[in-house]
Amino acid sequence: MGHYSKQVQVFVIEALFVLCCFPVIVAGVISQRKRRREYVENVPYNLKGRGPRKSDLPNAKRRRRLTLPLSAGSKALRTADQSQCNLLSKLPTEIRQLIWIECLGQMTFHLKIEDRKLRHTRCCSPTPASCNGCYRYRKGSQQNTHLLSLPLTCRQIYSEAIFILYSTNTFVTEQISTVEYLPLVFLASRHDAITSIRLEWYLTDYGPGSLTSKTSFQMKQWVAIWRILTNMKSLQHLHVIMCYPGSIWEGLSKMDAAEVVRPIMAITKPQNFKLDLPFTCPSDEAPWVDLPCQIGRAVSFG
Ligand SMILES: [Zn+2]
Repeated sequence: MGHYSKQVQVFVIEALFVLCCFPVIVAGVISQRKRRREYVENVPYNLKGRGPRKSDLPNAKRRRRLTLPLSAGSKALRTADQSQCNLLSKLPTEIRQLIWIECLGQMTFHLKIEDRKLRHTRCCSPTPASCNGCYRYRKGSQQNTHLLSLPLTCRQIYSEAIFILYSTNTFVTEQISTVEYLPLVFLASRHDAITSIRLEWYLTDYGPGSLTSKTSFQMKQWVAIWRILTNMKSLQHLHVIMCYPGSIWEGLSKMDAAEVVRPIMAITKPQNFKLDLPFTCPSDEAPWVDLPCQIGRAVSFG
């Protein structure tokens, strides 16, 4: 009898445990499915069969309290009269633009998606090419540039200065997903204002074989990245450095090369487009000779 009651006790405890955990499990599954649905709807190509990692998902929805026009949900926000401000009422717009450029422009930023947020670090090297990864050695407060203090002063300064951040600076990343999600994390107008990009693309998941199959994840991502760069309306300076540990790319056949370079052909806007490859290619022969860029040799790593 005692043994029977103990079994009932264990059953009741297990039932209570399942009942308590069930809503949490269901909520977790629903949340995961919702996140995946939003992600698949937003990425520029189909990721079926290759689920997103949580760390890859940038948070695209942000409150934009200073961006004009104000959204419907921001009626409580007010725009103060700035007529008493000499900077805004006396100085011509052209002079103010020069001031904003002096404060916010002509810099290099390292971009990285981390903890679902796009993070930036101002590069402390004289040029992007001379940087050896300065952002890796600066943590916490050292990375805080306070650059947004000026545009956050008021809505008028924000609306006049914010595009300078995008149009007069160089953005550098070695994280391919950062480029992949730029159209998600930036407003379209700001994405289109970017003029200079340097992409250090470590092809650790790529080899010639992965780019000859049209259905491979790598080929879809390859096409998507070049399409995003092609669609950047103001892009003038583009430097893509492709690195690969080893010599596997040396064996790329002419036929496969034609397939690989096809998405790059569409990039015609930048005045200055340089592509550094992880192998020595005959740049005076097809298909390389047809590329709209200057071809160089990337330094191998590993
Ligand atoms: Zn740097």
